[in-house]
Amino acid sequence: MKKDTKLTHTGRGEDWQLINPPVARASTILFPTLKEFEENGRADRFTGLHYGLHGTHTAFALEEALTALEGGYRTALVPSGLAAITVALLACVKAGNHVLVADCCYGPVRRFCELHLARLGVATTYFDPAAGAGIEALFRPETRAVLCEAPGSLTFEMQDIPAIAAVAHGHDAAVLMDNTWATPYFFDALAHGVDLSIQAGTKYIGGHADVMIGSVAVKDERWWQPVRDVIADYGYGVSPDDCYLALRGLRTLGARLKAHQANALEVTSWLEKRPEVARVLYPALPSDPGYAIWKRDFTGASGLFGVDLRAPSRAALEVFVDSLELFGIGSSWGGFESLIVPAVFKRTASRSPFLNHAIRLHIGLEDPADIIVDLEQAFNKMNQVK
Ligand SMILES: *Cc1c(COP(=O)(O)O)cnc(C)c1O
Repeated sequence: MKKDTKLTHTGRGEDWQLINPPVARASTILFPTLKEFEENGRADRFTGLHYGLHGTHTAFALEEALTALEGGYRTALVPSGLAAITVALLACVKAGNHVLVADCCYGPVRRFCELHLARLGVATTYFDPAAGAGIEALFRPETRAVLCEAPGSLTFEMQDIPAIAAVAHGHDAAVLMDNTWATPYFFDALAHGVDLSIQAGTKYIGGHADVMIGSVAVKDERWWQPVRDVIADYGYGVSPDDCYLALRGLRTLGARLKAHQANALEVTSWLEKRPEVARVLYPALPSDPGYAIWKRDFTGASGLFGVDLRAPSRAALEVFVDSLELFGIGSSWGGFESLIVPAVFKRTASRSPFLNHAIRLHIGLEDPADIIVDLEQAFNKMNQVK
């Protein structure tokens, strides 16, 4: 089955006549006999109904649909995208280990590595996203995981995932990838050498800016129990209401992403020609340094990109952002609406690709002609400021 068909037909639950699996809320799950209760507890305690924390029918349906889309062994759900990253890292390491993390990673990951992995005796080294096979120089005997994010969600640098995976697997290290930007719809992370595919479902899977959820899809059985154990032992559960919303969003992922892509391509092509724009950071543009890798490995691009803005001053930047009428100012992205924020990030292993003011745009499902008119009037107001 092709992806659009999977999105429509998988994760539909078994016995219901309802199109969408209902919200099944529970803490206690009842068993008809003591024997069945005890056997369920002893067997793989995370397969099937056992206790509300580990999921009910709603979660199982979402897991099934995500696994079909990711093409992996199974998918674990967690309450946020950040939890998906921390769980995946914890599943791969023990005291004395070392991890490699892309310098363009999602910001809070640095804090987790520096405060919490360090406290567990796990060291972190950041790598230049452009390292490719050259990442080998950073490996130590105790390196057990490499965390990629391609493109980075603030600086939009691609990584050569197959080249990094070949090196990592030669050193018995797992490859983790935050694939939130492309989603498994536009990039088959697991088929390109990734072992644990991470998704902030909060973004495009939910798709409506009203749900927090994350997922970790594992390539093969080897990673399933380590991931599930971390989730269970830390006590992470996902609300069935959130699973319901995520599954509802997932149904239209393909339709929405194609529209985000078309709109973003139109807006970025227009932006590239503006004198106020030094550079648009979007790997789907032939002018982008990540274009060759994107074209080789990905089948599409989403609606999020960076703009290196030649604003004459910080005050002028503020006028530009505040003058936009169709763009919300706020964190997160992946919903139906356009958003703008300054791109704030830390670098320790490589240079920032921005030379001027760093901003990040998410292009929603509005008509791109209206978005362009809005950007143009905001540029005009900005240009009147010194
Ligand atoms: C938002 C985001 C996350 C974190 O997701 P939350 O659900 O907000 O915790 C992780 N990675 C990327 C790339 C993100 O954009």
